[in-house]
Amino acid sequence: MELLKQRIQRDGLVKPGNVLKVDSFLNHQMDIALFEEIGKEFQRRFSQDGVTKILTIEASGIGIACIAARYFQVPVLFAKKSQSKNIDGEVFSSRVESFTHGRIYDILVSKKYLSEQDRVLVIDDFLAKGSALEGLCKLVEDSGATLVGAGIVIEKGFQGGGALIRGRGVRVESLAIIDGMDDQTGQVFFRD
Ligand code: 5GP
Repeated sequence: MELLKQRIQRDGLVKPGNVLKVDSFLNHQMDIALFEEIGKEFQRRFSQDGVTKILTIEASGIGIACIAARYFQVPVLFAKKSQSKNIDGEVFSSRVESFTHGRIYDILVSKKYLSEQDRVLVIDDFLAKGSALEGLCKLVEDSGATLVGAGIVIEKGFQGGGALIRGRGVRVESLAIIDGMDDQTGQVFFRD
């Protein structure tokens, strides 16, 4: 998605450790006109898939998912992050390793909101090593719902998550795929 790539080039900040900061338009301050274009693009790519629900993860995924949901006209469910080890039987849960903080935490959704009848599109802001997306996909699988695919705003293609998840047969649509970044020059290199 050209508009998104231009915005990353213009306003993204490359930090040491292969971290891209996009706080001015995606992760902190949010450019809703851009979110609308992102939502439309996800809807265009998954228009034939009978999506009944969008699943994302708190916090950065929620805004993107909510705007996208306006185009799909479906509810948004977000997985909660929990430190608690005592998770009762009323939730689907899985374990995620945070890319940005290195911590392990549980993510969970109430069993009330995911069922076998659902056709779920997972949406997230970043795909790096794939732990967050893998955890979200597991929640869907555990519920018996159909996983339609994943819509990712920015995939860092050199960190292996995309290959891992696609290798498991999940359809992953990323709007911008980055093949490398240079924190000295600030350059971002996109795939095609
Ligand atoms: P993964 O689980 O695929 O390794 O990492 C995905 C999660 O880590 C995303 O939900 C996102 O919040 C965070 N993340 C990974 N890489 C970056 C990055 O370069 N910049 C920012 N802002 N977040 C990232």
